[in-house]
Amino acid sequence: MKYYSLNHNSSPTSFMKAVINGLAPDKGLYFPQEKVILSKDFIESIKNIDDVEICYEVMNKYVGDEIPKQKLIEIINNTISFKIPLKKIEDSIYSLELFHGPTLAFKDIGAKFMAQCLDYFKSSYSSKKITVLVATSGDTGGAVAKGFSGTKDIEVCILYPKGKISKVQERQITTNGDYVKAIEVEGDFDKCQSMVKKAFNDEEIIRKIALTSANSINVARWLPQMFYYFLAYKKINNKKDNLFSVPSGNFGNICAGILSKSMGLPIHHFIASTNVNDTIPRYIKEGLYEPHSTKKTISNAMDVSDPSNFIRIQKIFNSDLQRLRKNVSSFSFNDTETEDVMRLLYNSFDYLTCPHSAVGYLGLKKYMDVNKISNVNGIFISTAHCIKFKDVVENSIKTSIKYPKSIKDILNKEKKSLSIENYSELKDFLLSRV
Ligand SMILES: *Cc1c(COP(=O)(O)O)cnc(C)c1O
Repeated sequence: MKYYSLNHNSSPTSFMKAVINGLAPDKGLYFPQEKVILSKDFIESIKNIDDVEICYEVMNKYVGDEIPKQKLIEIINNTISFKIPLKKIEDSIYSLELFHGPTLAFKDIGAKFMAQCLDYFKSSYSSKKITVLVATSGDTGGAVAKGFSGTKDIEVCILYPKGKISKVQERQITTNGDYVKAIEVEGDFDKCQSMVKKAFNDEEIIRKIALTSANSINVARWLPQMFYYFLAYKKINNKKDNLFSVPSGNFGNICAGILSKSMGLPIHHFIASTNVNDTIPRYIKEGLYEPHSTKKTISNAMDVSDPSNFIRIQKIFNSDLQRLRKNVSSFSFNDTETEDVMRLLYNSFDYLTCPHSAVGYLGLKKYMDVNKISNVNGIFISTAHCIKFKDVVENSIKTSIKYPKSIKDILNKEKKSLSIENYSELKDFLLSRV
């Protein structure tokens, strides 16, 4: 499979190059050149096929012959090594729990897959030691750190904003093996991100270090997110319409769902559920793409006002707004609505959600209400474990929640991080590693 840039100013490239580069040289996102359609036979017999084999079938055309079959199967096996339950909450409403991975959020899947691809390709990439440099607002850092455990000769540097991520998130970033360097930045996420960008454009650094990013727009993080739509479908044993409500920020997760549908997976409709950063709900309603400035919310992994993956969704629908509307609805919710529904889910169904997943539930209910829909498989994606946002959740449900054992263990580990204030300190640190 070749990948082309959605900016159309770079030539098409291999899967390997797309994974290593992250972004095309013209700064466009990569998109697969050919449409992949799965056979009806495959879709109809999914219930009898082994999980790893399903994911192999979904992924293999996108990878092509660049990774041998046995290796790709091994990569997939390591990627989906935790349970992905589909829990019934009430009539017609299910939660697809993607938070049972090593860092308790769905990003584990993309990060694990990408780390293994980079590990496989690294010898073709550079003879130098590879450094993955990434900025995080919370969930990405831990997922990337854990994703690279088990790879060799790859160092992972994670920049995070001091005091602006949750305690659990911080521990997940700062308590790993020596291959992870956690860098605490005096400032906000935007500052972390701009320092990372600066490093990628710094000639001295690029000359001396084989830098790569673990950005969420990387095709090796985006595409494996299709796995859980297929695996969820496998678990459904009726012929009702399947609706997926996806808590969305950068729109990578939902874009993988939409691509799954385009390959033949029977999904009736998508609901893109957002917090008050509502560029897409407004776009779908009014047809105008007008990002406002980003607002801080309690579902902070979705505090994005200009979602990078939206251009891929536009591509899938050929920028046809009517087709988009036919397939995707979008609603936004504020923090009060989110807190109220976390409390409702806890009190009425004894179900704990993180604020992002709660937004997903709200979007699903609203779509079903507005369209008077019942008797469907309404699935909202639960993107993170509530414990990652302990304070927010406890404040909403007015009850304290306990740490699971796996988290207690890392809370007791010693935090290891380097504190920096500006770019020159980051540069000195990176060069000191050569
Ligand atoms: C990253 C993240 C999201 C948003 O996912 P996108 O693919 O960026 O739309 C939602 N919830 C949680 C918990 C996340 O970490």
